[in-house]
Parts: sequence; structure tokens; C-alpha cells
Amino acid sequence: KEISAEIVIIGAGGAGLTAAIEALENGASSVALIEKMDITGGNTRLSGGEYAAPNNWLQAGEGIEDSKEQYFNDIYEGGYERGNKELIQVIVDNALESAEWLKDDVGVVYRDKMSWYGGHKVARTLWPVGDGPVYVDTLEEKARSLGAEIYFTTTANELIQDENGRVTGVVATYKDGATYTFKADKGVIMTTGGFSANIEMREAVNTMWPSLDANVPNTNSPAITGDGIVMAQAIGADVVDMDAIQLYPVNNPATGNYYYIDYARLNSTALLVNKEGKRFVNEKGTRDVISLATLEQTDKMVYEIIDAAVVAEQRLYEDYQAEIDKCLKDGVLAIGTLEEVCEHFGVPVEEVKATIAHYNEMVDAGTDEDFGRTDNFNKIGDGPYFMFSSVVSVHHTMGGVKIDADARVLDKDGNPIEGLYAAGEVTGGIHGGNRLGSVAVCDTVVFGRVAAQSALAQK
Ligand code: ADP
Repeated sequence: KEISAEIVIIGAGGAGLTAAIEALENGASSVALIEKMDITGGNTRLSGGEYAAPNNWLQAGEGIEDSKEQYFNDIYEGGYERGNKELIQVIVDNALESAEWLKDDVGVVYRDKMSWYGGHKVARTLWPVGDGPVYVDTLEEKARSLGAEIYFTTTANELIQDENGRVTGVVATYKDGATYTFKADKGVIMTTGGFSANIEMREAVNTMWPSLDANVPNTNSPAITGDGIVMAQAIGADVVDMDAIQLYPVNNPATGNYYYIDYARLNSTALLVNKEGKRFVNEKGTRDVISLATLEQTDKMVYEIIDAAVVAEQRLYEDYQAEIDKCLKDGVLAIGTLEEVCEHFGVPVEEVKATIAHYNEMVDAGTDEDFGRTDNFNKIGDGPYFMFSSVVSVHHTMGGVKIDADARVLDKDGNPIEGLYAAGEVTGGIHGGNRLGSVAVCDTVVFGRVAAQSALAQK
């Protein structure tokens, strides 16, 4: 089967759907999206859909002062000063405008409260109603309404080039084994995501985490296997930062995936304790810091404790009842008095009580002498408490194909490969050694749009 479109996009996740909308809104006559799974969204669907935007409308209401420079510094420093400054600047310059586009044009509905992720100096993260699933559904609906065609259960496996090396299409395999050839008049945009779910690839490049072995779970969609990186490398594309693998610190041991109820820690006040019932880290630290500390604890297993007031304030029952039920059934969550929850996990309750008392005294005194926590540095109050067990997972791969500020894929000599664009987690260079929470969605939208603009501008 042969399909022709002005623009062909590989991967209908966050970046792919955004690129499709942008292309169609700016005069593309047709856009075809190739999607491996039977559902859109990839890792974006599994996320909270959160988007860091400096100087956003909620910050104004809350009197929070922010700036592009501050956002730039947070991304750059959070990435261990390894990120490409030119690419970071593109994100910083377009973050707010693209957030407003999502809200006003695409129809994403944001909550009236922001999140505050580790590594950001101020709260600047917009959080959509319904998290990743509703966010992606909104993008998909918009893309379809503009005429995007999505080819599901179709796996792209090869880029087609003409005699001049220009990328003119994609060879893909439909689930029944049939070959689909996609011809792209203007360009191919690769938005296939990272490679956290490809254990071989992960093992081959990992130097960052000595304790990361093949048994460490991942938070990703099973489709996120680095296909775009492999396809691009096969035609000479360069890669960058492939060793930079991000672990996510707080995950459900039963699934390897994160907990929505962990929003209590991210957005409010929760404690992390180890098997001995002691705090071991700043609960608001970056993902790397918490992950590394967790891997050093007994059995690499830790516990999050949330008090009743935060459970109510964060609407955990209202928004995440299904997850709560499942976690109780799986035994990874206990709810009750401190005695009850600690007994469930075999953690010494007297130690936990002493930990909480000491922590609360530090809150009263105003300084976390032990771990330097400042954000949501509030007391732990009364129960019934939530306590849930947690392990580290592989979450995100910072490395990927090299692009320039126009989202053009670069070869090993630093020259753009004509006709090939990339955006989102498949690309490397932006987040350097570590990606801050809620900058990935911002990246997919900003660079998804840039890629679409560049492809359209091509003759
Ligand atoms: P990003 O956040 O960068 O947009 P996502 O994980 O949200 O990345 O989306 C990546 C999408 O690409 C997923 O929907 C995934 O199923 C799809 N995908 C990955 N590899 C292929 C492939 N070889 N062919 C088609 N689709 C793919």
C-alpha cells in the first residue's frame, strides 16, 4: 500500500500530534501520522501532561516573579550544564506562546493551580485537567478535526532517501505484516520518543548509573524503544548525550510505573522514609538526587507518607480512587494510623514517629538542617495516613538524534539531512544530563511546532 502526504510524521505522541496540528493550521494540505500502537499518546499519555511556562497567567495571579532567563538557567543547571544553549533558548523563547496556543487554540483546559517541580526555582508548571490522557485526547481531537490521518498499529522501520540523500518517505509494517510505503512531499518528522523500554539499547549506552541493570523497571509505554534513533542513524544522523538516562524516583513496585497519588509529594507535603523509618533525602530534590539516594537504601525500597490534610487538599480520593483501590489490593499502599501503616510494611513505627517529630521541629525552626528542603516545607499532621512503597524506575532518555534550532536532523558533519526533522524525546541535546519535570511536554510542543514550520518552509 502506498500513502502520500505533504508531511509524514512518525509517532502520534505528544510531539507528533502537536506537529500535525501546527502543520495543518499553517497550510499543509495533508498530514499522515504513523503510529505503532493502537492508541495515540506514547509516554505523553502516561504523564501528567504538565508544562513549564515562565511568566504564565497563573503566576501573574499568584504574584510569582519569573523570567525567561530564570527558566533558561533552571533547564541548563538542571541538565548539569550539558545542554545545548541554542536549543534551550528556543524552548525558553517559545514556551509561553505555545502554552497559550494549547489553551486558546487547541483547547487544553488547565487547572487553576500550578505544580512545582524539583529543580525549578519557582512554581511555573501548568497542569491540565485529566492529566496526560485527556491532554493527548484533546490534541488528537484537534489534529483529526483539521484533517490529520492516523495510521494505527503501523511500525515505521526505514527512512527512504532520494539520490541526493533527501528524505522522501518512510517504509512501515502494518500489524498484519503488510508493507506500507509513505511518501512525503515536503518532509518527514520523527517523533518516536526515547528508548527507556529498550533494555539492550539502555544497557549499551549506560555509564551514568552503575546500579542500573536490566532488572530495573521502566515507566514507559512498551513502544518507546528508540526506533527513530535507529532509523536516523542508519542514514547517517548524529546522536548526542546517549549516556544520559533519567531515573524516576518514586514508582509502584507492582508496576514499575509512577503513582498519581505521588502528586502529594510533588505539589504539597509528603515524607520519604527508608526501611529503618528514617528520612534520607530532600523530598523536593531533583529526580537524580532522590533516585540515587533511594538506590542506596536497604533493598532499594522506600516509603512515602502523607497526612490526612494533604490527602484532602490534593483531592487524592476524588481524582485517583481507581489507583488507590488497585494499590490497596496489590498491597503497595496502606491507609490508617501510623501504627497500622508501618506494621503493614514492617517499618518500625517508633522510628517513623521520631522522624516526623524531628521533621516537624525543623519546620517550626524554619530550616531543614538534615536535607535542606525549602519547598512545601510544612509539618506532617494527623492521620489517617497514606503510606506507599516505592522503587526507582528508568523514566526518560535525554540523548537522541542531534537537531538544530529549526529541528532539522544533523549528520555527523553537522549538516542537516534534507527532508528530515525531529522533535520530542527522540532528540538529544536540550536537557543535557538531566531533564527537569514538566520541561519535556514543553519541549514536545515547542519543537513539534518548530519541526512543522521548518518542514512546511522547505521547497
Ligand atoms: P514525545 O513525548 O517525544 O512526543 P511520546 O512517547 O509521547 O514521545 O510518543 C512517541 C510515539 O511514537 C508513541 O505513540 C509511540 O507509540 C510511537 N512510536 C515509537 N516508535 C514508533 C515506530 N517505529 N513507528 C511508529 N510509531 C512509533
